Order: sequence, then C-alpha cells, then structure tokens
Amino acid sequence: MYQKAIAIDGPSGAGKSTIARRVADRLNFRYIDTGAMYRACTLKVLHEDIDPDDEAAVSALARKIDIRLDAEEGMPLIFMDGENVSSAIRGSDVTTLVSKVCSYAAVREAMVELQRGYAREGGVVMDGRDIGTYVLRDAALKIFLTADPRERGHRRFVEWQQKGIGLDMTEEDVINDLIRRDELDSTREIHPLRQSEDAVLIDSTAMTIDQVCDAVIELWKERSVEVL
Ligand code: C5P
Repeated sequence: MYQKAIAIDGPSGAGKSTIARRVADRLNFRYIDTGAMYRACTLKVLHEDIDPDDEAAVSALARKIDIRLDAEEGMPLIFMDGENVSSAIRGSDVTTLVSKVCSYAAVREAMVELQRGYAREGGVVMDGRDIGTYVLRDAALKIFLTADPRERGHRRFVEWQQKGIGLDMTEEDVINDLIRRDELDSTREIHPLRQSEDAVLIDSTAMTIDQVCDAVIELWKERSVEVL
C-alpha cells in the first residue's frame, strides 16, 4: 500500500524544509517538519533543567510532552505544551543538543507516533532524516536531498541572519555545526540518516529552490499516476 506522502530526507541545511513547504503548498498537502518536533523536545529538556545524558529522565519527558504542529498564513508553527515555540527551537542552545536528545529510542518512538498520525490524516510532505527509511516506508515518493556542506552552511547562515535567529553564530560555526550533526545523525544506532534504496537523489548545490521544487513536483506527478 502506497501512502499519499512525499518523504524528504537528507543532511542538515540541504534545503529540505524550504522545498517541503513549497511543494506542500503547491499540492495542497500538509507540511510536517519532524526536526521541529525533536527540537521542541530538546527545548523542554532545557526548560526543565534535565541532564541531557540522563536517558530515563529525557525519555519520561518525551512521553508526556504535548507537541502540535499548526500553520498561520502559510507559516508553520509548533506548540509545546500549548506554548508557541516556533522561534525558541531555532536557538543555538537547542541546535547544539538536539542530536543527543533525538538519539534516545523513547524520544524517537513518541515523535514517530505523532508523525504517522499526521500522515494518516491526508496528503503530507514530511521532511527529516528517517522518513523514507522508517517513518513512512510506504510513501509514494521519496527524495534524498543533499548539497555540498559549505554551500549548506552558507545558505543556513544567510537564512538565519535574515530571520534574526542564531545570531550568536558565525558562518564557520554554522558550517561546523552542520558537519557535526550530520556525523551524529549518520552514525547513531536507531534510524540513522541514510538514503533509502528507493529514494531519488537530488543534489541541490547548483540548483535554485524553484528548480528543486519543479523537479519534485514532476516526480510526484509521474509517481502518483503510477502507484496511487
Ligand atoms: O531538520 P532539523 O535540522 O531542524 O533537525 C534537527 C535535528 O533533529 C537533526 O540534526 C537531527 O538530529 C534530528 N532529526 C532526526 N530525525 C528526523 C528529523 C530530525 O533525528 N526525522
């Protein structure tokens, strides 16, 4: 059974969220940012002053946290226990810790359950690291989006400067952080970042956002005729 879903995985800063959001808009699908969910858990760990190395305490917290994705005028929002944390989850404190928090089995289980729940409600474009390989293994289209690490770091730095987030980080800090997280995400034991065998690889280093979106939409048209 194929699911009316587009899974977009890839390393940090490859443009997954921008592409996923635009493709979702064009297809009238819902955009699900799974990274934001792991970031919200991490923010909660910081708020509650829990030791991130204490797996039992972090796991207990992940099981009781209430996370909800919403959108306002096309802008995705995330609520954690009723609080809008859409900006707070982008801070460098969260970014530094998120790959540790999301490596715990119980944290991933809780978030995957939510993610699959959203996918059951209707068409979704979901981005993350393990969507094609695990969360939505039966997605009708899977994309593995990548780009050169320096280009990814540069893009993310410019984006954050424009949005006024992560202002305490230099471009070099951003590049190094992406490389560090890619390493942690690719080598963790549970559902590491890797390209699903049936995913289409798109290297966006020399492509514009519009070109990538068009390519994904074209693939979706072909794929949805074939399998849905
Ligand atoms: O996508 P974003 O960079 O906001 O994700 C933050 C972190 O959450 C990633 O570095 C990764 O460690 C983790 N993540 C994950 N699985 C997902 C989405 C994100 O492990 N499906």
